[in-house]
Amino acid sequence: MQVAIIGAGPRGLAVAERLINLASDDLPINVQIYDPYAIGGRVWDPFLPQNQQFLMNTVVDQVTLFNDDSIENGGKPLSGPNMFQWIENEAKLFLDSHPEFDVSYLNQVSRLKSPNDFATRGMMGIYAAWFFEWLTKRVRHEQTINFTQQAVNDLKKIGDKFQLILNDGTLMLADFVVMALGHSDDVLSDEEQYFQDFAGEKGLKYVSPGHPSEANLTQFDETDTVIVRGLGLSFFDYLDALTSEKGGQYVRDENNELVYVPSGKEPHVIAGSRGGFPLHARGVNEKATSELYQPKFFTFPALEALKAAGNGQIVYKEFEKLVLKELNYKYLINRINQPDSSLTYGQSEALKSALLTSVDLNITAQTFGLSNLASFDLDSIVNPAKGISNDVDYTQWMLAYLDQDIKDALLGNKSAPFAGAFDIMRDIRDKIRYVVEHDYFSADDYETFLNRFKSFDVLISVGPPLERVEQLRALIKIGLFKITAPGIKVDTTFNSFRATDSMNHVFEGNALIEARLGPTDISVSRNPLIVSLRDRGIFVKPVKQRHDGSTYQLGAANIDKQTFEVLDEAGEKIEHLYLYGITLEGLKWFGTVIPRPGVNTVVLREGAWIAQRILNYA
Ligand SMILES: Cc1cc2nc3c(=O)[nH]c(=O)nc-3n(C[C@H](O)[C@H](O)[C@H](O)COP(=O)(O)OP(=O)(O)OC[C@H]3O[C@@H](n4cnc5c(N)ncnc54)[C@H](O)[C@@H]3O)c2cc1C
Repeated sequence: MQVAIIGAGPRGLAVAERLINLASDDLPINVQIYDPYAIGGRVWDPFLPQNQQFLMNTVVDQVTLFNDDSIENGGKPLSGPNMFQWIENEAKLFLDSHPEFDVSYLNQVSRLKSPNDFATRGMMGIYAAWFFEWLTKRVRHEQTINFTQQAVNDLKKIGDKFQLILNDGTLMLADFVVMALGHSDDVLSDEEQYFQDFAGEKGLKYVSPGHPSEANLTQFDETDTVIVRGLGLSFFDYLDALTSEKGGQYVRDENNELVYVPSGKEPHVIAGSRGGFPLHARGVNEKATSELYQPKFFTFPALEALKAAGNGQIVYKEFEKLVLKELNYKYLINRINQPDSSLTYGQSEALKSALLTSVDLNITAQTFGLSNLASFDLDSIVNPAKGISNDVDYTQWMLAYLDQDIKDALLGNKSAPFAGAFDIMRDIRDKIRYVVEHDYFSADDYETFLNRFKSFDVLISVGPPLERVEQLRALIKIGLFKITAPGIKVDTTFNSFRATDSMNHVFEGNALIEARLGPTDISVSRNPLIVSLRDRGIFVKPVKQRHDGSTYQLGAANIDKQTFEVLDEAGEKIEHLYLYGITLEGLKWFGTVIPRPGVNTVVLREGAWIAQRILNYA
């Protein structure tokens, strides 16, 4: 049995591990993994120099590549160290015997002392390399596993088999193919192409959407004024690269506040986004490895009740209300538990139980004397600057906003009023996945969900380590960085890039960085494999029909949701051709996660299912 796995990221590795470890002793199985990047995949490639610096946004204790018995129908698990345990016990030994990795990784091992630390992305890649070495040692008599560091540019069905065409033209055959392709590079939009051409003509600098670890950032120096479009995770990578990698230093002052000591080589940065707000800082971790918040309102019975009330479909508005009620509840519990809460112990306990049956949580809390309550509606959370006057000094306003965010995040991801509430989005995500995958929304409501909910979820729950937000505050304070008001628009003047925002501020720069990855949409992908499969009608986008008969397409490639096998343009299942992960975004929900131990984590769960389906054919 020959199995080709295209993509050596966490998903590709998850399938490989299950195939090797679950195959019976007498099954001849040959697993071939392909990726142009190192084992562990592109995001974590330890040989990309910037990955020695860029941080993960998941604490080391909550990262694993090993199956465990929480995985639903995952087959017999073979346990192994999570990333923190690996750093404590194995990393140094492994690095000592692998001189191909940069020596700086050994220093990182000494730095990563707490389960709540954030490792660099490259360190994750080294954990993956160690995992792969472990896996190769598990290989039994009839088995082989190989990694070929090459892209697969195309694949074709030949009889019962698939022929893979590698980047160097080599042809390989496989009985089964699993594609776990991650984020793909996209063709530039008309606007991006215009900016790139404009930069070329005028001698300006332009960085198109893509992985920050692969961008050329040595080209920027103190003579540049850079407009950065995007305030998400990529923005924080660029922030790091344009400051500490230019020789500046972040140090703590006597009040323990982070301040920036510039090297003089840093460019000036003007950053903004449509939404206008940098992702919220992650609360300092207080959660154990596998600890998940247990919702009180956003439960399966409540979701089923909404579905029944909606005649078999959940109305999006009701879904949003339920999510926000859960967040609001957690916010209030954390407010009550703050040492400066004015409530007595008796009042606190009475309020906590009253909240469980309350229809309007804030009104109930107010009747118990809790005041200054935040409004937990989605629009206010997404745009806290809504309604501020144009006369306000926006930089001062933003500094006060970041102060609040930092102060709150320091209280921890269980205890902080906001960061504690926001963090539960990570813990309830599997329930949201269930709603999406089981088509609980009508096409109309699903469209609203996609347009409204994604940016909200990202803003509050995937933020960078707290330190990065502290760095941003330090940079604004010394005038190196400026954040625009929401609604940034970029165009060009005669010889510069120009940004305007909703408060009519105008900024000009000689450089523009698009601080984001492209959309996950197969119709704009540049990945040769995706392009070929799409152009031949093998990858097609699922279509949703609205109530009025009109339609829209998702960005994903279509699959049979039961088996993960690709559905072609005729709706025919291509047996033994599996696709999972980020290329399914839209058809599935929030695949951009790393496996977490002990929580039936989606990456390992789906990988185990695919591997077992393959093994069932043996
Ligand atoms: C910059 C960045 C930082 C991130 N940080 C975090 C984080 O800190 N925590 C977290 O939980 N998640 C993070 N993520 C989300 C990340 O997507 C997941 O954690 C995880 O890597 C997804 O695993 P995957 O295997 O599905 O995809 P990937 O890890 O992206 O792996 C897919 C692999 O497929 C390969 N591939 C694609 N096409 C081909 C082809 N034609 N032939 C051969 N190989 C191919 C790619 O080169 C890539 O290596 C981050 C994502 C990005 C982009």
